[in-house]
Amino acid sequence: MKAGIDLGTTYSTVARYDRMTSKPEVILNRFGKELTPSVICFLDSGEILIGEDAKDMQAGGAGINAAAFKRGMGNPNFSVEANGKTYSAEQLSTILLKELIKEAEETSGQKIDQVVITVPAYFNDLQRKATIRAGEACGVKVLKIINEPTAAAISYGYKHSEDKTIMVYDLGGGTFDVTIVKVSKGNIDVIGTEGNHILGGKDWDAVLMNNACDRFNEEFEEDPRDDPATKNELIVASEDYKRLLTKSDSITFIIKYNGHTGRYDITRADFDAGTKYLLNATKDVIDKLMADLKLQWGDISEILLCGGSTRMPQVSEYLKQISGREVITHQDTDLAVAKGAAITAELYASTDTRLRGDVRISDVTAHSLGALSVSIDGNKYVNEIIIKRNSKIPASVKKPFRIQEGNMTDHIEVYTLQGESRVPTDCVVLAKEVITGFANDGSGTAIDIGYSYDENSVVHVYAYQGDEELHVDSEPVPEDLTFMSGNPHDMAAADDSKIARNIIICVDLSRSMKPSMEQVTSAITDFVKTTAGENTKFGLVGFGDKVGVIRDMTADSDVIIGALPDLKPNMLGRGTDGCPLGTAESMLANQPGVKMIVVLTDGEWGKRDFAVGEALNCRNSHIAVVAIGFGEADTSFLKQIATVDEGAVYTTLSSLGSTFSTIATAINNGSMGLRERK
Ligand code: ADP
Ligand code: MG
Repeated sequence: MKAGIDLGTTYSTVARYDRMTSKPEVILNRFGKELTPSVICFLDSGEILIGEDAKDMQAGGAGINAAAFKRGMGNPNFSVEANGKTYSAEQLSTILLKELIKEAEETSGQKIDQVVITVPAYFNDLQRKATIRAGEACGVKVLKIINEPTAAAISYGYKHSEDKTIMVYDLGGGTFDVTIVKVSKGNIDVIGTEGNHILGGKDWDAVLMNNACDRFNEEFEEDPRDDPATKNELIVASEDYKRLLTKSDSITFIIKYNGHTGRYDITRADFDAGTKYLLNATKDVIDKLMADLKLQWGDISEILLCGGSTRMPQVSEYLKQISGREVITHQDTDLAVAKGAAITAELYASTDTRLRGDVRISDVTAHSLGALSVSIDGNKYVNEIIIKRNSKIPASVKKPFRIQEGNMTDHIEVYTLQGESRVPTDCVVLAKEVITGFANDGSGTAIDIGYSYDENSVVHVYAYQGDEELHVDSEPVPEDLTFMSGNPHDMAAADDSKIARNIIICVDLSRSMKPSMEQVTSAITDFVKTTAGENTKFGLVGFGDKVGVIRDMTADSDVIIGALPDLKPNMLGRGTDGCPLGTAESMLANQPGVKMIVVLTDGEWGKRDFAVGEALNCRNSHIAVVAIGFGEADTSFLKQIATVDEGAVYTTLSSLGSTFSTIATAINNGSMGLRERK
């Protein structure tokens, strides 16, 4: 039998798809319950309690408890020591999964051999791979891992016929995810996801517990949180109190500690007020996602609540208030994920073509995938993003990689990273991949490196030389990654004179330039003469109201110099698109070697944000943008569009010549963005 398993931080659920009723259904555990606590308790006797029994023990404080270990998935530093053994989160997950499967088999009377396991959408590659391994270690086939909010949307939407854009708001025990899904006639299309993985029901528990403990401390001048066993009990109790507050308007939190008994009334209104900041934190995540996807509340048909913590009345009230949309709660909130997984399991390799034909699922990746590479100026390592977050999966991108001339290496090391930052050490380093088996005669061998996300959002790296696939071996990521913060010295060995250089000069041709044209053309003429050479190509672009290519890429510097005297303000005519960076970027797109854009302007540009966006694209394409301004030009704007350090220069008309000459020298020395990457 195929099963879907919601392997939750705090609770887990198993479900299957019933072909008779064409509906997913939860398989109860041996206590007849739908939810099994994700808790393991190691007793001194060596006995291991799992689920319900372990949770009881946790409250009693006996044995060694492992709870919320899902938060440690894929983290090599997370471990639980018990009875002389060390367990990783992955191993703990295997213990739990085995028990879940065993109990489901007992109550259903059917053997489970294939499973779909759910994971939070934000789970990175290491966490996903760990989850797959944890499942496989149970002796079952892991058909797929699927994102929890996607699973919830599937169980909710797989039979919906109208077109809808649903926001899945998933607030669990320790995590929060928001995912936007388009549902239409069985097509489940995830368009974006964002999360905060340290925010969840536990934070609400903590607010309750701290409220009561603070008051106890005030009353008796003793802090019950100082005693670990008492604290453990209080953590468990505070969750129960929180659930009570979902049903009633107030509770009395009782603390017994060191012979004292404190009773503290807490109303729902107090609780809601004290935890409002947590809901605001979920809104931050929503806002970010909607901004990324350029969506407004008007674009959202409804909000689907998911995860146990959305039972708190404050959640739907808050969401209604901030969104004005319909908020859907069904009794199934914390079963929807397991049911969606069960449907997915059935879909997968299903013989029921009716179901298969009815439902199509497409998902996105929550993290950008990048590779460690060298910055444009050659001075530091950066995370070069290759597949952007919220890309549809599976996704695959091939990147050409050229081994420097004279370099006879027989292997290439590739570090893969997940994260949004340019700074490698801010990202998760996934793997060190070593590519071997290629022919390299030292003449500047070209290799293609492919980076991909499979449909589980799991990362793969592959490499080709021509049509031949090369060996790619994963090596353990070194513990010491400080080199990533250092200077990539080995890059400096390149012989700069041989490197192909591409320089595009973008000249402001707005009306205000009229009195400056003579000095401008003379400064640019000298610049071109100084930087010209066998390996250097130039392009010339004018901009003002409109953008125009005056001369396309050419190695003949005289062609550029010859065009300069004809430059006239307003020669391009009226228009609205006044940013030259996109045009220059596309002119550089297929040029080998280093790429640079030198922009000269005497004023601020109309579409400033647009220009900043184009500059960012240039940066991502490893183009060095140098922005020179004079007159009305605004220094902060120059800084925003420059992509290299020291690339924003404010000068005066009379110093224009010497400014250009300084830049020309820097280019010739290879010290301004002109060192070939890799
Ligand atoms: P996870 O998937 O992270 O394990 P769940 O979706 O199962 O989480 O949700 C568990 C969380 O939901 C816990 O923090 C639990 O306290 C909370 N929760 C469950 N039921 C209620 C309720 N009736 N009122 C308030 N919180 C609840
Ligand atoms: Mg959950």
